[in-house]
Amino acid sequence: MPVLNRIAAYADEMTAWRRHLHQHPELQFDLGQTAAFVAARLREIGVDELHEGIAQTGMVAIINGRGDGPTIGLRADMDALPIAEATGAAHASLTPGKMHACGHDGHTTMLLGAAKYLAETRNFAGRVALIFQPAEEGGAGAKVMVDEGIMDRFGIAQVFALHNSPNQPLGNFQTIPGPIMAAVDAFDIHITGRGGHAAMPHETADPVVAAVGIVQALQTIVSRNHKALDDLVVSVTQIHTGSAHNIVPDTAYINGTVRTFDPAVQAMVMRRMQDIVAGQAASFGVEARLDYHVGDPATVNDPDATALAAAVAVEVAGAANVDAAAGREMGAEDFSYMLQVRPGAYLFLGQGPGAGLHHPAYDFNDEIAPIGASFFARLVERAQPLG
Ligand SMILES: [Zn+2]
Ligand SMILES: [Zn+2]
Repeated sequence: MPVLNRIAAYADEMTAWRRHLHQHPELQFDLGQTAAFVAARLREIGVDELHEGIAQTGMVAIINGRGDGPTIGLRADMDALPIAEATGAAHASLTPGKMHACGHDGHTTMLLGAAKYLAETRNFAGRVALIFQPAEEGGAGAKVMVDEGIMDRFGIAQVFALHNSPNQPLGNFQTIPGPIMAAVDAFDIHITGRGGHAAMPHETADPVVAAVGIVQALQTIVSRNHKALDDLVVSVTQIHTGSAHNIVPDTAYINGTVRTFDPAVQAMVMRRMQDIVAGQAASFGVEARLDYHVGDPATVNDPDATALAAAVAVEVAGAANVDAAAGREMGAEDFSYMLQVRPGAYLFLGQGPGAGLHHPAYDFNDEIAPIGASFFARLVERAQPLG
């Protein structure tokens, strides 16, 4: 049973919703049309409460089950990306330079499909809180919703989310207990030397050589300071310096990203980076300043919630289509902020072959929307069964 029969009957309507959202992409917190569309669908569906204007354009809708029980949170992100669409699809973006290249149009649609089913059937105890958030793409909209108090305000006990996964088999669920997505930090290194004529380097303090020394030494954090069995990425992604072939410049600039799962590893990286930058600068006779920016935390799945979600995925998709010990990803996800304050789980749902996330040729596969909606619906019924 890949899809609940009642939800299978919504497939055409869900495709229409998804394609409407796809044609009208909006960015970050600026989701006026998107939020209005979602709110209109939720009113048609007949949710019991609709709380708009959370994190500017986010909202939480409540559906009451039958009898007392906890409140389960289900989250969908709604924002698009500043990418010019190249799908050539009939439902392609009508806004130049913006497109739903991460499938958040599909995530929103899956949660609306689940909402329709849950409002019609109400075969669960307690309540469900449908969380529609803005600004997943670099705006930490989930953090803003948490900071605005949605967990306490709506009494949410646990939270779940799905992300589509291109080039994984269609309808295949992947998750893992513990960390599933990385913490993402950024760093900037400003080097100040003393420039001069390139024919007389002995009269300069060369920031170019110092920059290269720092970049090389940073590679040893992963290879020499870090335990081989833990996951860690340190990537230098930019070096900017110089203006001519015969001038030693005054300054150089380096930046990059660090991806970790474990706060202890993150602390080690920060300490070693500080030491390397200071030591290398001293050895080359230049000044160097490290600015380390701690970003979104790792997305960490609760083991019990993950086991429940995996069991529901097996029920929906069959055991052959569920990998509950999938590999971690070094990408990031702001659902991490919700999982910091409530137990829950994050899962990927394969959508078959095609362009990858954030690619101009990417498109959400409408075939998986009823599968995701069935997963959310059965998750609520199994997490909070009728007495
Ligand atoms: Zn994305
Ligand atoms: Zn995404």
